[in-house]
Amino acid sequence: MDLSSPIEKVPRIGPTLQKRFKKLGIKTIKDLIYHFPQRYEDFSNFSKINSLIPKTNVSIRGKILEIKSSLAWRKRMTLTKAIIGDKSGAVKIVWFGKPYITDNLQIGDEVFMTGKVSQGKKGLYLNNPSYEKITESGSPFDSKIIGLMPIYPETEKLSSKWLRGIIRQVLAISKNNLQEILPESFLKEFNLLPLPKAIWQIHFPDSLESAEKSRKRFALEELFLIETFVLKERIKLLQTKAHQIPMDVPLIKRFVESLAFKLTNAQRKSAWQILKDLEKSHPTNRLLEGEVGSGKTVVATIAALNTAKAGFQVAIMAPTEILTKQHFKEVAKMLFKFKLTIALLTGKEDKIMAKKLKGEMIEASRKKILEKCIKGEIDILIGTHALIQDKVKFKNLGLVIIDEQHRFGIEQRARLCRGSGGQANEIPHLLSMTATPIPRSLALTIYGDLDLSIIDELPVGRRKIITKVVQPKGRQKVYDFIKNQIDLGKQAFIICPRIESQTTTYKIQSGWKDVKTVSEETERLSKEIFPDLKIAMLHGRMKPKEKEKIMSAFAKGYGGSSEALREGGRDFLARDKKNKIDILVATSVIEVGIDVPNASVMVIESADRFGLAQLHQLRGRVGRSSNQSYCFLFTDSSSQKTKQRLEAILKSVDGFELAEKDLEIRGPGEFGGKKQWGIPDLAMASLKNFALVEKVKQSAKAILEKDPHLKQQPLLKQGLKKFQEKVHFE
Ligand code: ADP
Ligand code: MG
Repeated sequence: MDLSSPIEKVPRIGPTLQKRFKKLGIKTIKDLIYHFPQRYEDFSNFSKINSLIPKTNVSIRGKILEIKSSLAWRKRMTLTKAIIGDKSGAVKIVWFGKPYITDNLQIGDEVFMTGKVSQGKKGLYLNNPSYEKITESGSPFDSKIIGLMPIYPETEKLSSKWLRGIIRQVLAISKNNLQEILPESFLKEFNLLPLPKAIWQIHFPDSLESAEKSRKRFALEELFLIETFVLKERIKLLQTKAHQIPMDVPLIKRFVESLAFKLTNAQRKSAWQILKDLEKSHPTNRLLEGEVGSGKTVVATIAALNTAKAGFQVAIMAPTEILTKQHFKEVAKMLFKFKLTIALLTGKEDKIMAKKLKGEMIEASRKKILEKCIKGEIDILIGTHALIQDKVKFKNLGLVIIDEQHRFGIEQRARLCRGSGGQANEIPHLLSMTATPIPRSLALTIYGDLDLSIIDELPVGRRKIITKVVQPKGRQKVYDFIKNQIDLGKQAFIICPRIESQTTTYKIQSGWKDVKTVSEETERLSKEIFPDLKIAMLHGRMKPKEKEKIMSAFAKGYGGSSEALREGGRDFLARDKKNKIDILVATSVIEVGIDVPNASVMVIESADRFGLAQLHQLRGRVGRSSNQSYCFLFTDSSSQKTKQRLEAILKSVDGFELAEKDLEIRGPGEFGGKKQWGIPDLAMASLKNFALVEKVKQSAKAILEKDPHLKQQPLLKQGLKKFQEKVHFE
């Protein structure tokens, strides 16, 4: 069967299953056979039942002597108990929340079980073991002895057992269509298994080594595709041209002197690197990384000023309307004396600050702004996605600045770059900014030879956010503290890891048992804890418009200007009590976002569920003014790993260091990479190995040098294209 065929072509997959598969992102046969096991369980080494040792993982083989399901825990959960016996003895088995087990297993069945031995009051038992029935015709595997059992990342209703069966069936009918996309030389160099063998062995391995070898193959395949893609982009970039924008040193000096603060060294260095970029005749692609509050905007403004004064236009784009407005206000304020025309284009609110108007901001129609933009009369255009609409055309766009660019697709970026006047192969310089601390290793891998500027120091005078890890018994004290802060005119964030609760079964199985959810927590807080305060809720499933509304209401909070609030000013006394939001209960959607200088408390529920870099980002939402701010990390986990991780947060204020540490402690799979960049799991896992990454890069380079357009490698070319569509490298 053709690998691109939809899964509904498989006989046993009906509409319900299709839906479940869709949730896993599995749409085609290929997706299905590339749905790899997470781990394997070893059924090959059996223990005698009379010699089980508590707290060890064991496999046993025996006959089911008893089996029964009943409802437990106020009838919310199925409890299945069984007894299995071999020649040496018998042992109790317990499963929670798996009602279907009694459909699969009956008294008299021969089974393999593997799981952990627990010590109960009445003796030993196996807790939630995996099992495999031994049928008349032998084991469900080819091999005579049962060996390694693949365990897939499961969703609620697709068991590993079932997946295993279906993948086996699908592989059998499609194995002739597996096409190797990796070049022969690459396979040889890294001693990789050929595709058909690797696919088979990753699902049904003969040994753990063999499974490992298959995983390595796929990890390297992904890495190779990433590197090839990145290199190709790089080559493309070198073939295009850009306007050369000379550095105007006196101008920059004047600007820097006009600022109310002194630039940090990191800001100076980054600005210098960017200005150097602009002088080049091919378009640069630089990422400016600096955590929240590190002052990226002023660095970007320097680049914008230099470009605009050299006679080229600048486009600045941000992911949300609020952020865009914030940029407009700030950039316009900083460039006030420099006689430039700066416009805001959001789709809803359009404004202009023109030279002629002596720095005054006025409303302007969208039409007018667009007209002026084509004529080149607008020096700096700041906007949201509205900017990439076809109607927006520039006369001579020299520089594009994108804030938090991983929110923009590659397509969108291309559209923004197009439309500038000049030759066909001329594109503007690109500066992207992000507050996500991407470890350098990761950045270099996913961006290849991208130029990186890092602002790794905060402006002086920022107060350190007081961070505390809070165990359940400290909860009330924190609530009292929040109440106090709000009485002082401040606001608070409360972050929960989930939006809504899952079914109980899922909660238990996945270990998300006591995790707070935004909806439940909002209700609980407004009813039980803070009945007098105004509490709002924000999460990713809300419509963007709704989110913006809540966020901007929260940001406004009080009548005062954000500058005044930043200085801890007194405007809050004039606050409009009726319309103010005191507490915002949210998911991590607020991670990248708006500046709310008046918020002084950040509470993170189930803090152990978040990555360190993410916790750090969330913490960065407060402490944006000269007011003392606080961050409380709630956890009820007492595990060593949690302790170690949360302590790292207490100690470090360096987002990069934390990101690296996270990579170390939790491994890259947990790191934001997948979510933000769509990097496949296996490749993520190999990113830690710099030497390997480098070797793969060199290999990709060699192949591209010989065959830049991959003419001799049509399958690779095709594979690369598909890969690109799946992964967004922004
Ligand atoms: P981010 O990097 O999160 O985008 P911003 O550019 O918004 O940070 O800067 C945060 C605040 O810090 C702004 O109010 C800005 O004016 C101020 N700021 C930037 N650089 C400095 C500096 N060197 N010293 C003092 N304040 C600064
Ligand atoms: Mg910013």
